[in-house]
Amino acid sequence: MQRVDTYKHKGLRQKLVEHLIEKGISQKRVLEAISAIPRHFFIESAFESHAYQDKPFPIDVGQTISQPYTVARQTELLDVQKGEKILEIGTGSGYQTAILAYLGAHVVSIEYHQTLYVKAKILLSQLGFQVTLLHGDGSVGVPEYAPYDKILVTAAMPFIAKELLLQLKVGGYLVAPVGEKHKQRMTRVHKISENKFEQEDFGVFVFVPLLGKNGWENSIP
Ligand code: SAM
Repeated sequence: MQRVDTYKHKGLRQKLVEHLIEKGISQKRVLEAISAIPRHFFIESAFESHAYQDKPFPIDVGQTISQPYTVARQTELLDVQKGEKILEIGTGSGYQTAILAYLGAHVVSIEYHQTLYVKAKILLSQLGFQVTLLHGDGSVGVPEYAPYDKILVTAAMPFIAKELLLQLKVGGYLVAPVGEKHKQRMTRVHKISENKFEQEDFGVFVFVPLLGKNGWENSIP
């Protein structure tokens, strides 16, 4: 079905942006991206009235589209620059992928669940985004396209997998929720040199669990 982006949707996005500013999001480019991308396209049309609330929302196979604040915060922490190659682990609805692409990144995004991968691929191509979408276990990264300027994990990691740090360029950042299955700390790792890393903590967040080899459940995607 053809989705439309009306003045009403744009107005709701503007209100959401004002709310994100109040919550401390300050990077102008990130706010511009939130204001430009129609989040309601990434949610079933019957539920689109939920699209501009600052809440996660269920998508298929028990997964969620992340809360707008979380998307904005993770994007801000990544400090996306035009032309950077970014690996996103957990495509989900494709909303965060669209935000990164809007900011000028070359996005490689991998999704564990085939249903979500197929849906996001169709939607992002309909919207005109040129991104590389893959289906598989991103908990081991995607070595074929490495190294990456930045790596973004959008599901809860029990630990920071070595494979991901190896696939990160020196000078790059990895941003990921790390910790327990139902509560994590937003963590940013800065790769200072091939074997030196600095880690920063940005507080508590709650994500769905990462699956796969370095996740909570090691089944085949
Ligand atoms: N960024 C997404 C968005 O904007 O809709 C939200 C992602 S949702 C919170 C987390 C996603 O990570 C889910 O779609 C889940 O299937 C996916 N996932 C979990 N483990 C994964 C893995 N090992 N590799 C790739 N994707 C994974």
